[in-house]
Amino acid sequence: MRGAVLHAPGDVRIEQLDDPTIVEPTDAVIRMSATCVCGSDLWPYRGINEVTEPTPIGHEYCGVVEEVGSEVTRVRPGQFVIGSFIASDNTCPHCQAGYQTQCRHRVPMTGCQAELLRVPLADGTLVATSDQPDPELLPSLLTLSDVMGTGWFAAVAAGVRPGMTVAVVGDGAVGLLGILSAAQMGAERIIAMIRHEPRQALAKEFGATDIVAERGDEGVARIKDLTDGVGADAVLECVGTDDAMHQAIRSTRAGGGVGFVGVPHGVAITGRDLFSTMVRLHGGPAPVRRFLPDLIDQTLRGEIEPGRVFDLTLPLDQVAEGYSAMDERRAIKAFLQP
Ligand SMILES: [Zn+2]
Repeated sequence: MRGAVLHAPGDVRIEQLDDPTIVEPTDAVIRMSATCVCGSDLWPYRGINEVTEPTPIGHEYCGVVEEVGSEVTRVRPGQFVIGSFIASDNTCPHCQAGYQTQCRHRVPMTGCQAELLRVPLADGTLVATSDQPDPELLPSLLTLSDVMGTGWFAAVAAGVRPGMTVAVVGDGAVGLLGILSAAQMGAERIIAMIRHEPRQALAKEFGATDIVAERGDEGVARIKDLTDGVGADAVLECVGTDDAMHQAIRSTRAGGGVGFVGVPHGVAITGRDLFSTMVRLHGGPAPVRRFLPDLIDQTLRGEIEPGRVFDLTLPLDQVAEGYSAMDERRAIKAFLQP
């Protein structure tokens, strides 16, 4: 099969690789219907996370089951399936509590930017649709594997409820889908902290009611201005930098919540930051498996169209262009057709 391999910073190539096979009796092999490039793939691509050897890359996937191991009972060949970027058994205490990304048997997925994929713990990881989906729905269904589920978790973790004022820090695909999630959960006012104009337009289409282009102290002051000096009820932190996290905490009202889903790079929070603001923090790698059945239903019913974050579609063979377009911020997110 063909698959993307990261060799060194800035060097991702499509290569001929061995077809994956069933290794454990709990595995499935799927044929990819669509895959994509994630903002977090850019960390190793930019050399911020070290690349020590050629590594198959990509962790967002949906496709059709080709083969299952002898112990797999919940999915069968021919079904269209979506799974999380972390494989999980969906039965251990963490999974039962809805924290499948902390599963006792968790397996981080990689090598998804390819034609075929081995999925461990298939019964726990994969969710099948009842029919083959309309090809037009593929981009939206693919986002449920990570980016949309992550934006949704940011809103859940921040405690978004109907009628709330919500602020969203971050103009990447996760931040934009955090806006969509907050709108879907009934937020009355959604303040998007976005500087980039084309992304402001999509933020508004997803439900943002106000745009704040300022950052840091000025950004916090603007949020306070817009909320009678109080701060937002819930804030979604979708970047992962120290500035973004502090901007989120300081924009939240006392007793409000911050949902943080940006992978932290250099974030430092002191006890005093927490003590003085009285803000609740919750976040981490989104347990998208918890939300998959509901988000699949919402997508198939046409209530949400998260696939609109894809503004670049490429054949898998041009994966390198997908990375460079996202790296240079020429594209929000690249959709890849195997
Ligand atoms: Zn588990």
